[in-house]
Amino acid sequence: MDATASAGQGPGPTADRAVGPAPDPSATPMIRLRGVGKTYDDGTVAVHDLDLDVAPGEVVALVGPSGCGKSTTLRLVNRLIEPTTGRIEIDGVDVTDSDPVQLRRGIGYVIQSVGLFPHRSVIANVMTVPLLYGETRRTARERARDLLATVGLEPDTYGDRYPHQLSGGQRQRVGVARALAARPPVLLMDEPFGAVDPVVRLRLQEEFHQWRAELGTTTLVVTHDIDEAIALGDRIAVFAHGGRMAQVGTPAQVLGHPVDDEVADFVGATRGLRRLAVVRLTADLVEPIGDLTLGDLGAAVSLGVSLEEALAVMLREDVPRVAVRDGARFVGVLTPDGVHRALRRTLAAGD
Ligand code: ADP
Repeated sequence: MDATASAGQGPGPTADRAVGPAPDPSATPMIRLRGVGKTYDDGTVAVHDLDLDVAPGEVVALVGPSGCGKSTTLRLVNRLIEPTTGRIEIDGVDVTDSDPVQLRRGIGYVIQSVGLFPHRSVIANVMTVPLLYGETRRTARERARDLLATVGLEPDTYGDRYPHQLSGGQRQRVGVARALAARPPVLLMDEPFGAVDPVVRLRLQEEFHQWRAELGTTTLVVTHDIDEAIALGDRIAVFAHGGRMAQVGTPAQVLGHPVDDEVADFVGATRGLRRLAVVRLTADLVEPIGDLTLGDLGAAVSLGVSLEEALAVMLREDVPRVAVRDGARFVGVLTPDGVHRALRRTLAAGD
């Protein structure tokens, strides 16, 4: 196999991440939670004093063990339930001032068990929402076809099938297409890829970044899986028992500096390895070397890949260093020492 051609080209989640629209943290938050709490009637404190801002276009993953209030938080945002305390704004408007039905139409909601209409075709399922909005059948159909293509389902092949004629992963894609059909400014996803097998799940996580690059929808995604949170979120919000948000930050920040033992336990003893996936190869980590050429070195990666990918190429090709390209240009080599320096540096910078 020609390692030079193949290295660094895989559409890993971190590689795709670069394609997404850069959220602007200084913009008015699309979702703003202030002092939000929910105590259920039986006295269960599901969410406690939660503050969170989500920038337009940003993806924030709510992650934590089961029962720590993640789903409750999502359901508060679209007013399936009402908060006991605090204030929730979407695009500057207090959600309690909105009609709940109108509000929910402006918010896409994807849940694990999708909830497709079994007796309607795939295309009819996706068209439901634009039709509700009063779009013509023709416009709704075009929109549905576009969205099916966006989520990787060829509309000519899959549009006329019924949900029972699809795999679990395909059904999940239809669920996402349907949630996006109203062009919602906000998308809420609750364990969206939880019901599919691990291989399909990885693929959906990778493709997620292509959808978001196309659509730029502000997204809150709930998962109990730290790896999924890292794969999907621009930032991750780690929930702890008692509905408390223990930490929020970029994956590198949370993995590099867990605020307390509970977060450290949750992100796991192998968090050093996980950080490899979220730190990128930059030019200053590359060592120039004499008159060697790409051809002499064989294995190569491009600037901008994750350190995980770079290290994976070294291990796969069984080489002590890997050539680094900037486009077509050969810029030097990366060694395990360079990987170590990069990880140390992100810790020092609190990055
Ligand atoms: P997560 O999504 O993190 O698994 P949930 O938000 O579903 O957690 O639940 C948070 C807590 O609230 C749990 O202790 C759960 O048992 C409790 N809970 C959820 N729904 C209700 C309800 N309708 N009535 C009482 N308690 C509830």
